[in-house]
Amino acid sequence: MFDVAIIGGGLAGLVNAIHLSQAGLKILILEKNDYPKHKVCGEYISKEVLPYLEKLGINPFEIGATSINKFLLSIPNGTQIQTQLPLGGFGISRFTLDHFLYQKSLSHGCVVVKTTVQKIDFLGEKFKVSTREGKEYFATFVIGAYGKRSALDIHLNRDFIQKKTPFLAVKSHYTGDFPNDLVALHNFEGGYCGVSKVENDFINVCYLANYKTFKRYKSIEIFQQEVLCENPHLKEIFSVMKPAFPKPLTISQVSFSPKKTIEHHILMSGDTAGMIHPLCGNGMGMAIHSAKLLSGLLIQFFEKRIKDRHSLEKAYIKAWKLTFQKRLRAGRLLNTFLANQKLLNVGIHGLRPFPALLPFIIKQTHGEELI
Ligand SMILES: Cc1cc2nc3c(=O)[nH]c(=O)nc-3n(C[C@H](O)[C@H](O)[C@H](O)COP(=O)(O)OP(=O)(O)OC[C@H]3O[C@@H](n4cnc5c(N)ncnc54)[C@H](O)[C@@H]3O)c2cc1C
Repeated sequence: MFDVAIIGGGLAGLVNAIHLSQAGLKILILEKNDYPKHKVCGEYISKEVLPYLEKLGINPFEIGATSINKFLLSIPNGTQIQTQLPLGGFGISRFTLDHFLYQKSLSHGCVVVKTTVQKIDFLGEKFKVSTREGKEYFATFVIGAYGKRSALDIHLNRDFIQKKTPFLAVKSHYTGDFPNDLVALHNFEGGYCGVSKVENDFINVCYLANYKTFKRYKSIEIFQQEVLCENPHLKEIFSVMKPAFPKPLTISQVSFSPKKTIEHHILMSGDTAGMIHPLCGNGMGMAIHSAKLLSGLLIQFFEKRIKDRHSLEKAYIKAWKLTFQKRLRAGRLLNTFLANQKLLNVGIHGLRPFPALLPFIIKQTHGEELI
């Protein structure tokens, strides 16, 4: 019997595991993939999470992260605006970061099982977690940290899974010249593409595109040539830089619909609880922050400072809303603005004489430093 079983060993799952195991709790992580593994992600993390990570003994610069403090936004005709980031961030690949966190969780005594979770049953005071191979695990609490979308959401009959999701995402690493300290967001018809450095001088190029626009083209290559390369910044990237992957990674069905923080007593963390638009560059920061909130409350429960499961659930829902609801709303608003070429055109020209306004807008989708 485990104190906490964590479904999904991505960023939220692993940070929860490290935090909880440091408090002496017995932790099980169930993850369907091997480590290390590349993931579709812009790989720019807001520095707001650094003090918390350092407290957990995690220093991303030890594993090669690059420090980023400048932001550039461009529109399809090439008009650009550049500014200093309020807090800044760092670039590190999920390949390296998740693997590092995985090893850290093992060193703290967490049990990690490679399997796909198929079913979670709440039996009153404990959970039964069933895997694809028919194995069963028991735990007092279950954390759902299985990312933005999983077959488990269908099993749990979650509301958002019924809704159509019109986005797909593509990512590859490249070699070439790109400033170490810059994150660029280049707009194109029906989407936007992030570009920034990660460890070992690799350049992450990751874009989110509307499926309606994408399906008019036969392949990723043609789509990139005909749509993304309309923007001269992206044209230069795709013509000069060399891909480091044999072929780009893709995902579809990216959903930004609101989700419930708790379902069937399962405590959701990271994207499983709610996902901010990737253009905000704060999904990973939120995943890490949500792990801090949840782990803190679970530790209080095991130390008998929270009296029962019901009080813990109420406290988590309240803390999650208070911390993230405003950011998610700002992210949705920003996405609506970026998706509308006319609005964006006017906006970027309006902002050019006042670049200091851009950090203010970015701040609305980020939080304070996590102490
Ligand atoms: C195109 C794109 C670009 C992005 N760029 C950025 C960015 O630059 N900066 C930023 O901060 N955020 C970015 N994000 C968001 C960021 O990637 C996510 O917010 C972050 O990965 C959330 O972490 P997580 O731990 O919640 O989920 P994940 O990292 O997705 O982890 C979930 C884990 O659960 C496992 N899993 C799933 N189902 C099961 C199952 N049934 N059983 C066992 N295991 C399971 C998966 O294998 C996975 O390892 C981007 C997202 C997208 C789509």
